[in-house]
Amino acid sequence: MVFASADVGFKQDVPQVQNTFLEDPVMASVLERLLPGDVLQEITPDLVHISEWANTEGAALVDRMEEDQPRLRQYDSWCRRVDELLVTEAWTKQKEIAAREGVVAIAYERKYGQYSRIYQMAKLMLWSTGAGLYSCPIAMTDGCARVIELIGTQEMKDQVFARLTSRDPSEFFTSGQWMTERPGGSDVGRTETQAVWNEEKKAWSVSGFKWFSSATDADVTMLLARTHDTNPTAVPGSMKAGSRGLSLYLARVRDDQGKLNGVRIHRLKDKVGTKALPTAELELDGMEAQLVGEEYRGVKNISAILNITRIYCGMNCTSAMQRFVLCAKEYARRREVFGALLKDQPLHLATLANMELQYRATSQFTFYCVAMLGRIESLDNNLPEIRDRDIPLLRLLTPILKVWSAKNAFYLSQEAMESYGGQGYMEETGIGRAMRDVLVNTIWEGTSNVLSLDVLRVMAETAGEALQQYSDAVRGMMAPLRSKPEWVKSAKSLEESLILIAIRFTSYSTPEGRNVLEASARGLAFAMADVIAGSLMCQHAAWSEAKAKANPSNTLAAAEANVDRISAQRWCEELYRRVDHQIQSLGQEERYEQDKQMLFALADARAAATASKAKNPISSSSAFGEAKL
Ligand SMILES: Cc1cc2nc3c(=O)[nH]c(=O)nc-3n(C[C@H](O)[C@H](O)[C@H](O)COP(=O)(O)OP(=O)(O)OC[C@H]3O[C@@H](n4cnc5c(N)ncnc54)[C@H](O)[C@@H]3O)c2cc1C
Repeated sequence: MVFASADVGFKQDVPQVQNTFLEDPVMASVLERLLPGDVLQEITPDLVHISEWANTEGAALVDRMEEDQPRLRQYDSWCRRVDELLVTEAWTKQKEIAAREGVVAIAYERKYGQYSRIYQMAKLMLWSTGAGLYSCPIAMTDGCARVIELIGTQEMKDQVFARLTSRDPSEFFTSGQWMTERPGGSDVGRTETQAVWNEEKKAWSVSGFKWFSSATDADVTMLLARTHDTNPTAVPGSMKAGSRGLSLYLARVRDDQGKLNGVRIHRLKDKVGTKALPTAELELDGMEAQLVGEEYRGVKNISAILNITRIYCGMNCTSAMQRFVLCAKEYARRREVFGALLKDQPLHLATLANMELQYRATSQFTFYCVAMLGRIESLDNNLPEIRDRDIPLLRLLTPILKVWSAKNAFYLSQEAMESYGGQGYMEETGIGRAMRDVLVNTIWEGTSNVLSLDVLRVMAETAGEALQQYSDAVRGMMAPLRSKPEWVKSAKSLEESLILIAIRFTSYSTPEGRNVLEASARGLAFAMADVIAGSLMCQHAAWSEAKAKANPSNTLAAAEANVDRISAQRWCEELYRRVDHQIQSLGQEERYEQDKQMLFALADARAAATASKAKNPISSSSAFGEAKL
């Protein structure tokens, strides 16, 4: 008789993903629709190569980066302050690879014109699986390059931009982006850091405390600071309050000898995830910096970085979702329960189908934004379709993409974990790390609420024009399908959802309706994402069907067209109910007052009652501890 032991008995067939690009039909198909055939043909070997790298060498680097996390050596043995940031060899290697692979460079070389962004982001999507968190400094590097390209001086272009976009690892620079301070990450108008002009050095001297810096090992950084008035008639030290007093600065983090430029690394953050990333608190004391763009235009000028980094968030979430879905499907093909494979268990199948649908929708929406970014960067911005359509539309869609993809990716990470059963909860599968890492996308570069409010701001600032562009885009995609019987239900659901969104926005765009509108902002952002993703899926399905019809002998094309149609129809037909719920459930006139009562009124009343009874009310410092879980 043989008994099961550690070595004898059942061993689960290990799920495998060899090459994400080759194994994921969704991404390949989106690229085929968006890129001219010759461009796709030329870049495909590079996408296959980077995906293979990410699944082998890259995956090993990620493991090493996770095991051996960054450390800070603040003092040397003789108690001299050194602030030495110790990063792993694997982390340093990632910088070299990012340069060599042109992860930033591809976008600025513009070899393929407007399609270069699509190529670069497609490569990023595949690369980021093997890059761990190196995609974070790369996002900020790309954003910094864009700002310099748009408003930097010639010197900045020659000395910094050229290195941010270099493919030579010995030349390549990365950039940080320092906005968040203790009084506010969302509300940067409360920035305490100050910039004083130093006539002798012909540079700005920046001092203050930055609460979050993820790219602490970066070569340069963009940062916000409150500008001291340089007008000779101004009272020395005078500054403008709020965000109108902020300017954008560019600084080297270290000099050529590696000495920090007026920066002290106060401490490294102990984070829930993104462990490989050296996020720190920084004290700035006379950091030498150069002004970027005009004085007092800091918030506007830094937005060019945020527009890029938020699309990176969308792409990183799409990449994570691609991985979650591939792994969950792969495991379902190999794991047997109750006499059948998981892939044949109806409830498991339904769970996976929801994940698949969410990934398909997200990849359509993300690449739609990327394609628009590519056009804006490469084509004449005075062309009516760029000036009047792409620019306002991308401004509206960027925060929507970021909010929506971040929440969806986290949801999918949880489903992916559960789909592996107990093994999913084990660190060895990497799902836990991926889940912790993907979660940060809901917070950095703008939290869900803050970005949802940004969507309202864009709609209000453009007096509804952005909303009109958005509705036109959705209707434009549905126009060729509306008369086809099989698309009638989808088109109706999309149209009715658009109407709901417009009604919600217009009926509450009054001072009295402001609270209700704000309370529904998240629901609105989600609804708008769901709707545009639905129209993109329909457009893709129509393209896929045309492709299959043009090649009747191609059975694979017919199968793809079938799946694209089923997915688009399912997404759209279920849309209206979801949109109705998203919009109505959060914002109602009476709810705002009810919410206040439910959350705080009772506690306030109890505190008042206690205070009136007690002769000496208990001081808050002795009675309460820090609110922690
Ligand atoms: C891992 C990590 C890395 C980071 N790296 C960087 C970096 O490199 N550079 C950098 O500058 N920052 C960085 N950040 C900081 C991040 O961008 C901020 O934490 C974020 O923008 C939120 O700001 P806050 O922490 O001040 O929160 P707050 O702004 O205080 O927000 C607290 C809560 O209030 C909500 N809220 C705020 N305003 C409103 C409103 N008007 N209506 C409704 N709800 C609202 C928010 O949604 C949030 O839930 C990083 C953060 C993390 C976690």
